[in-house]
Amino acid sequence: MYKVCKFGGSSLANAEQIKKACDIMLSDPTRRVMIVSAPGKRTREDTKVTDLLIALANAIISGYSAEDERQAVINRFSVIAEELGVDQAVMDEIEADIQSRMCKDCSSSMRFMDIIKAAGEDNCARLVASYLQSIGRTAEYINPKDAGLLLTEEYGNAQVLPDSYAALYQLRNVQGISVFPGFFGYTPDGQIVTFSRGGSDITGSIIAAATDAQVYENWTDVDSVYSVNPSLVSHPNPIREITYDEMRELTYAGFTVLHEEALAPTYRKGIPVNIRNTNNPTAPGTMIVRNRVNFEGVVTGIAGAKGFCSLNMSKYLMNREIGFALRVLQILADEQIPFEHMPSGIDSLSIIMRKSYFTPDKERLIIDRLSRELSIEKLSVNRNLSIVIIVGEAMARTVGVTARAANALSKAGVNLEIINQGSSEISVMFGVREEYCNYAVKELYKEFFQR
Ligand code: ASP
Repeated sequence: MYKVCKFGGSSLANAEQIKKACDIMLSDPTRRVMIVSAPGKRTREDTKVTDLLIALANAIISGYSAEDERQAVINRFSVIAEELGVDQAVMDEIEADIQSRMCKDCSSSMRFMDIIKAAGEDNCARLVASYLQSIGRTAEYINPKDAGLLLTEEYGNAQVLPDSYAALYQLRNVQGISVFPGFFGYTPDGQIVTFSRGGSDITGSIIAAATDAQVYENWTDVDSVYSVNPSLVSHPNPIREITYDEMRELTYAGFTVLHEEALAPTYRKGIPVNIRNTNNPTAPGTMIVRNRVNFEGVVTGIAGAKGFCSLNMSKYLMNREIGFALRVLQILADEQIPFEHMPSGIDSLSIIMRKSYFTPDKERLIIDRLSRELSIEKLSVNRNLSIVIIVGEAMARTVGVTARAANALSKAGVNLEIINQGSSEISVMFGVREEYCNYAVKELYKEFFQR
């Protein structure tokens, strides 16, 4: 057995949490790789080390001395180092590391930002490995460059390069626990580059896939993934087992337990992902698997996300015009706007996008091009749209789920602006006004889980 375990920021926020994480690693000798985030928040009001580092980088980029920001970062690490009782030499090494990053060329702010951001995970890994060694355990800090984690040169949004997988397989030869910093890797020409925020989940998934792990354990601060956002419903239904596809849909619409891109590497290899709670390690957590065997109910989860808009168009005899949709999408592609859904009628088409991409400026430009280049007769934009989805693998073989959901929403007085079902039939999406988003989620939860 070979297990890869990732610990998030709240699991490493202070010495007490780091000790819990290390105990979890040591309680099972098959837990061989420990991916660490940067120390996170200790209290609600606290600041994550990554955010302290971003402030540090911004201060330097803006030409300030950044001494206060540097001190804030050093303080977080030195409190932890002291409480863990590791040698002063470790803290000296961390200070020197941060100092040397601060001296790097900051003329490319994106590149410089990643160098500084990566210091959180990198030094946390050094600290954790030293602690494990100080209590007499075999553990090694692994540098992602030496291990061969190669990423594309997309600062703040890197993607893994395929050659990484074979190189990272060699981690299996390391004795004891490999402590691997999450969130960053190197470009083929040796530049530090990070994933997007929350990206240590992606590192864990890549390492699990590369080392052919039996399981990828993702240790966080909740007992499981729940069928609905726990801030909307008290005592929500815990999900014991969920498929990658179901999880993907729910993450898309607002579930935040895992980074959106984190499932792809484990998904391709079929490696199960186990979400666990560092503060309650005996809880079994949630298993994310390729095929489920347990089906408790027809719906697995319900999610809602705000911040969408729809561009609606109609043109008489649109369905006869070959290449019409292609030309609409080409205009969006020219403006670098991704689309999310595209429900259509015979002579009408709607494109659902995120408002963050379809800005008012882009809207003017696109409407102008659509009317000029495609002679569209009716064009309108709805900027008040949220999407609510119900997800469940069992929906494909159950009659009447959409009817039940639509009926529940209609009884609750929620107008459905859009209904869309993907061909996989594992989810149904409803477009509702943003002010109804949370209400609609709660009403759907009542219908499918509280009757
Ligand atoms: N520390 C990084 C962040 O806060 C990455 C991570 O924790 O996954 O985004």
